[in-house]
Amino acid sequence: MSDFFDRASAREAEILADQLADQNRRAGLEDKTAADSAETCGDCLEPIPEARRKAYPGTQLCVECKTRQERNERGRRARY
Ligand SMILES: [Zn+2]
Repeated sequence: MSDFFDRASAREAEILADQLADQNRRAGLEDKTAADSAETCGDCLEPIPEARRKAYPGTQLCVECKTRQERNERGRRARY
């Protein structure tokens, strides 16, 4: 009997996790973790501090390159 309830709640938890993942996908948020962050910058190859990798899961650039990239993007948009 308790087996039935264990299985039912496990299935329920699975469904909830699926719905959550779906919501994240729709919101454009992938469930990235610090493990998905690059250890070295994809641009200048400097090591990315662990604090930054944790604060911005999935980050591929160091703070200097990210700032420069954002500035360049703004510059491009302003010119067109
Ligand atoms: Zn860099």
